Order: sequence, then structure tokens, then C-alpha cells
Amino acid sequence: MKVLIINCGSSSLKYQLIDSDTEEVLAKGLCERIGIDGRLVYQKAGCDKEITEAPMPTHKEGIQMVLDALTNEKTGAISSLSEIDAIGHRVVHGGEKFACSAIVDTAMIDALEECTELAPLHNPANLIGIHVCQELMPGVPMVGVFDTAFHQTMPEKAYLYGLPYEYYEKYKVRRYGFHGTSHSFVSKELAKFLGIDINHSKLIVCHLGNGASVSAVVDGKCVDTSMGMTPLEGLVMGTRSGNVDPAILEFIAKKENLDLAGVMNVLNKKSGVYGLSKGLSSDFRDLEEASASGNVYATKALDVFCYHVTKTIGAYVAAMNGVDAIAFTAGIGENAPIVREAVVKNLEYLGVKLDEEQNQLRGKNTKISAEDSKVAVCVIPTNEELAICRETVALLK
Ligand code: ADP
Repeated sequence: MKVLIINCGSSSLKYQLIDSDTEEVLAKGLCERIGIDGRLVYQKAGCDKEITEAPMPTHKEGIQMVLDALTNEKTGAISSLSEIDAIGHRVVHGGEKFACSAIVDTAMIDALEECTELAPLHNPANLIGIHVCQELMPGVPMVGVFDTAFHQTMPEKAYLYGLPYEYYEKYKVRRYGFHGTSHSFVSKELAKFLGIDINHSKLIVCHLGNGASVSAVVDGKCVDTSMGMTPLEGLVMGTRSGNVDPAILEFIAKKENLDLAGVMNVLNKKSGVYGLSKGLSSDFRDLEEASASGNVYATKALDVFCYHVTKTIGAYVAAMNGVDAIAFTAGIGENAPIVREAVVKNLEYLGVKLDEEQNQLRGKNTKISAEDSKVAVCVIPTNEELAICRETVALLK
């Protein structure tokens, strides 16, 4: 099957066309600056990237340009749209309604619209992607794959907040967790790579990218995760604060003369390692370089980030009463040996021993713990598009 994967953001859209039989990526790219001006990046397998600037007032023009590029006579990956057998959509928030991926139909779209309140920045864009694909490719089966679905197995004690219970009953205020497609994919890959039975395993996955979260996975099922009702909770991230004392919101609002939206903007966009480094960068490459040349704020930012990951791993070892293996994934998890080293340094009490040479490798599944380490530590590159492709095919078969 040829499966088109669509991941719509508010002003961007990432896509991949995957042959599900070989799991080969036939073409991939993104639309950027939707609603501003518009830029399409298209890359057919084995070819250079092509960049086209063209007006993209809405996602519709963006998706149309993607389809035109895919079927272009000279550089297209397919000769006609009829070759696309299915479409897999990444959907950020499935609320409590979706504990697994689902075929897109009217009932599913209605349910998704109900979840919009829980992810006002993300779900509307995902819905637009679904509507536009229905319009431009009528009759092609579509599947929604939710960032929250994998975490729906969390027990009540992990997902309830210490708030009046009525808020959960009335408004569904609870922990949902995100990056579920990645946590699910990486936990399965980790077990496979180490040759352990996922049905009898205790795993921790550290998805460390711009957004970052850790999850605890027992017997293949998520039992806890660090992001909450929204992706703001948990670890210190690129520009997001992660956990803070909630009373700080009121304090800062008064001191800086900000309204609630202003404070939320600070927590989402001006905090994290970006804020800690005094606005130097949210990118770990910049921070590592600055720290190496003596920038103390970059060093502080890296220290705080790593410390929070270590603490969360410790918490999940307690939550699971043990751990067999730990995986690092996503942009930072896969590419920053310094971060991995700093994170596992304080896990010696668990019998974790790092293999420093192995820790320098990147780009493929790699065991970075020493042979005599009691807990295996690995780098497992995530592949959310492939995970969405697999889910789509599995549901449609
Ligand atoms: P997201 O999908 O959340 O936008 P990614 O998983 O792509 O994020 O991660 C992006 C981040 O990964 C970058 O902001 C950067 O901090 C980090 N990163 C990427 N490459 C490297 C590298 N070579 N060394 C250190 N950090 C890196």
C-alpha cells in the first residue's frame, strides 16, 4: 500500500509518502508559512530537495501543492493520485474518546471537534487537514492517529490531578500525555532491539525534542507520562517551562503587569532552556557550543534540563518498582551524547553503567550502556511517520 502521512500544524504541514510493504519513504517534505506567504519543500527518495515559494493562504493550497508535487510528470513519486491507497493523519488530542487509532468517519470527526477545547492550538489544524484531504481525495480511506492514545492505559492514580473531582467530571481535566505515537513506537523498538518480551517488561522512554516527555511503560502499556492535560507540563523544554509552582502565575502576572494570556505566553514561548539561557537559544546545538565557550547561562540551562530528566526517570523507577531498560529518542535524545551522559550519571544506584564510546554513536538503534550495566540504556531513533503508517495499514486491513 502507498500511504500518505499528513501532520498539520497551525502554520505548517509535514508529509511523507510511504510504501507500507517495504516501509520505504517514497517522498517527503513540508509546507511552511501557511497563511503568511507559503513555501513547499519536496524531496523524492534519492533526489535533492526542491523548494517552491507560492502563495498558501490556507492548508488547502498547501495540500494541493503537495499532491501536485507528488504527481509531477518529471519529479513526482507517483504517476497519479489513484496510487495513494490511504491517508494517515497525526492528531494531537483524542481526549478520553480515543484509546487507539481510528478510521476517519463523521462520528470520529464529531468526537474530534469535541476534543478541540483541550488542544485549541493543534486540533483545529489537524481537522483542517482531514477536511481538505476528504475534499481533494474523496473516497481514499483515512485514519487518525492520536498523540494521546498510547497514554490512555494510565491508571486513575496517575492521570488524576489533586483538584476538585468535579473538574474531571465536568471538564475532563486530567493528565492525557502527548508524543504517544513516539513513546509507543520506541518502547516496541526498544524491546525488539534488546530481545526482551515487551509483555513482561518495565521500560522508560525519554522523548527529548523541542517538546520533551518521559513515559513509564509496563508490559507494553503506558502507566505514567510527564506531560499533562496540555504539553506544557513536565520536563523543562525548548521554550516551555514544564512544571512550575502554579502560584508563580499570579506572582509574575502582578510583577510584570501581565494578564493570564500574557503569563501563558511566557510559560509556553519564553521559558525552558531558552528562558534559562537568557534568550540565547532553545536549540541544544547552540547551548552546547555556548556552554563550551564559557556561557554560564547556557550551562545552567543544560544542567536544569538534564536534572529534570534524571528526576523523572527516578520517579518512574519508583512508579514501576523497577526498570529493565531506558531509551533516549527525538532530536536531543538521539543527537546529544552530553545530555545522555549527564542524565544517566545519577542512575548509578540502579546499576546503570554508560559505555562512553557507544554513547558517541548516532543514527541507529544503539546500546549505550556497558555490558555489565544492570539496566540497558539505548538510543532508539523515533519515526512517528512510520508508526502512523503502520497504524493506518493495520486498521484498514
Ligand atoms: P520537535 O519534533 O519537537 O520539533 P525534534 O525532535 O526534531 O523536535 O528535536 C529538535 C531539537 O533537537 C533541536 O531544537 C535541538 O535542540 C536538538 N538537536 C537536533 N540536532 C542536534 C544535535 N546534533 N546536537 C544536539 N541537539 C540537537
